[in-house]
Amino acid sequence: MTTPWEHLPRLALIPGPTPVHPLPRLGRELGLELWVKRDDLTGLAFGGNKTRKLEFLLAEAQAQHADTVVTAGAVQSNHCRQTAAAAARLGLQAVLVLAGEPTEPARGSGNLALDALFGAQVVWTDRAQRDQALRATVEALRDQGRRPYLIPYGGSNPLGASAYARALAEALAQMPTPPAAIVLASSSGGTQAGLVAGARVLGYRGRIVGISVDEPRPALAERVAELASQTLALWGRRERVHPTEVEVHDVWARPGYGVFTAAEAEAMRLAARREGLLVDPVYTGRGLAGLLGLARERALPTTGPVLFWHTGGTPALFAQPYLRQWLAQMAQ
Ligand SMILES: *Cc1c(COP(=O)(O)O)cnc(C)c1O
Repeated sequence: MTTPWEHLPRLALIPGPTPVHPLPRLGRELGLELWVKRDDLTGLAFGGNKTRKLEFLLAEAQAQHADTVVTAGAVQSNHCRQTAAAAARLGLQAVLVLAGEPTEPARGSGNLALDALFGAQVVWTDRAQRDQALRATVEALRDQGRRPYLIPYGGSNPLGASAYARALAEALAQMPTPPAAIVLASSSGGTQAGLVAGARVLGYRGRIVGISVDEPRPALAERVAELASQTLALWGRRERVHPTEVEVHDVWARPGYGVFTAAEAEAMRLAARREGLLVDPVYTGRGLAGLLGLARERALPTTGPVLFWHTGGTPALFAQPYLRQWLAQMAQ
């Protein structure tokens, strides 16, 4: 079957398919046939889901003869770190518009330290003015005679989302039977939208369960549906995805973005101690906390595989104050 995303230009930043494997000890404890898709192992600079999107986005940047890539995110953005690494590899200047306070010791840790190592230029702004700051940064670069290529938050536009349709085909080819459910941390929505749009084309009928990392359910479900519809349109398909067809759970997002609670601490501890697997405090720890919670409520399928899609975030383990807070939680 030729898929519509195969016709889109793509740079190979990832050496090959990322591994898929069972998580038997954790699965037995939860009464699930649990598997994991290891997109923490995409191979570039500690990995993550954004590298897949960048394969498509940076192919377009090169086609447009860009010499600079501009994107935005939170202080400890995994997306910005992967963009900075990919830009370095392609000989492009990365400019990152980061919302927040560059406080110590955060400045010298985690993703932010890596951004500097990759030679990215950082523009600081506050959250309320980040869109304006992003536009102003692009304009200033143009005025300087540069050719900037703008990547949206999280790389989440139809082109970036197409990478996750391709990734769904990759995962389905790796599994002995198709997963009854896929569970992932969902934030800017591009990953989930790509999976949802890809499922339409591939005829995948399992559940695609987004655990919201920061937003209430209606807002995220609406964005995922809209982005999935736009992604289908990019491939020449006229069908639309309705928000009621998008499964999102927001219970774990309620404490707020990046707020470390006992739920993430438990998920990190269980993944580490049952499977030797690392999940991060902000995204995958929250996503796995959602999976644990749904499993205990008997809200996940108990026949057929449940695939936890690991989306990366490893450097956040080494961003203060998370690790310190985590260790405090562990002591309780
Ligand atoms: C960005 C990110 C996500 C969320 O992906 P979206 O496409 O923005 O929804 C999940 N996990 C990690 C580690 C991320 O960096």
